[in-house]
Amino acid sequence: MNENFEARLQDDIAELKEEGLYNRIRTLESPQGAWVDIEGEEKLNFCSNNYLGLANHHELVEAAQRAVDKYGVGPGAVRTIAGTMELHRELEEKLADFKKVEATLTFQSGFNANLAVIPAITGEDDVIISDELNHASIIDGCRLSRADLEVYEHADMDSLESVLEEVEARHKLIVTDGVFSMDGDIAPLPEIVELAEEHDAVVMVDDAHGEGVLGSHGRGIVDHFDLHGDVDIEVGTFSKAFGTVGGAIAGSETLVEFLRQKGRPFLFSSAVTPPDLAATIRAVEILEENNDLVKMLWNNAEKFQKEMKAAGFDVGGTETPITPVILGEAETASRFSERLFEEGIFAQSIGFPTVPRGEARIRVMISASHGQDDLEFALDKFKKIGLELDIIE
Ligand code: PMP
Repeated sequence: MNENFEARLQDDIAELKEEGLYNRIRTLESPQGAWVDIEGEEKLNFCSNNYLGLANHHELVEAAQRAVDKYGVGPGAVRTIAGTMELHRELEEKLADFKKVEATLTFQSGFNANLAVIPAITGEDDVIISDELNHASIIDGCRLSRADLEVYEHADMDSLESVLEEVEARHKLIVTDGVFSMDGDIAPLPEIVELAEEHDAVVMVDDAHGEGVLGSHGRGIVDHFDLHGDVDIEVGTFSKAFGTVGGAIAGSETLVEFLRQKGRPFLFSSAVTPPDLAATIRAVEILEENNDLVKMLWNNAEKFQKEMKAAGFDVGGTETPITPVILGEAETASRFSERLFEEGIFAQSIGFPTVPRGEARIRVMISASHGQDDLEFALDKFKKIGLELDIIE
């Protein structure tokens, strides 16, 4: 063991702790759901991305079990060697119909989808124009590209326009999160598409928090704004509303054909597993069949956000079920989270650098699986602790 190296890692870990940036990782002893078991106690789950409660939905579980019986657990290889199974094709076709695009391609995660697509489609003659609050996987995808990178101010169309006017390139790729995961605001996609048309740019949107949430039957941000055919590349994840693990890109047949040849995580990392594929297929079918879960999610979010605002909490400018409860300093947010945990609610605090200094928060993730009693329980506890910590009056 290299002692200098060990010592340096320990110093860095100590620094994270001192700065309040050390992630405390809690372990669940039960399936995902409105309530989860942690440290032997039931806690109301207020911070998972299980928007529609599908992560432990019996129909997804049964689909996964059947897939394991038929196909086993592992893909055995990367997609281009022996890893492409019937289930990959079935999911890709189903997802293309659902998203109303020509074709889709699955990846092992949404993170990998961003790492695959951005460097594959851009080169040194291109420029990527990225929203300053884009997700880490987009940032890393940009880092892996040889293209120049320009960052525009968050959702600021004047800032985007001035970058578009300034830069010269073979292709200008505008890339944005659809729903911004820390604040819950929605990217101004119609304006982005309009600017892209004026400046001959390509548009890519990461719909991780829009899928299963926005648009009719949860088809996502493109459907929400009725922009079918106007967005070149959509990136998605199965790990949030769909309740499983995996990622996808959606777009033209040509784009998908190109990425099958050039997307490095597609070429060099093994394929999505059979149970994940089968469960995700069932998730897409459930969404196609009815809109009830999406409606329940929005009703729950509206109720919770309305009552939190009425109680005096700052929930920022959210436009989606992501509910930031902005509390100020990191210590306050972390104390709030500890107190919630003691009172039976699991909701992690988030501080700098994930969010700006002074805007530390509890990010509440509302789910269709929360019942009215659960929301009432949470509202009572938030108010109690809010008063206790002088956040509300
Ligand atoms: N993009 C965004 C905007 C996300 O919020 C996330 C998940 N945190 C991802 C991509 C990565 O998705 P996955 O969990 O499938 O890797």
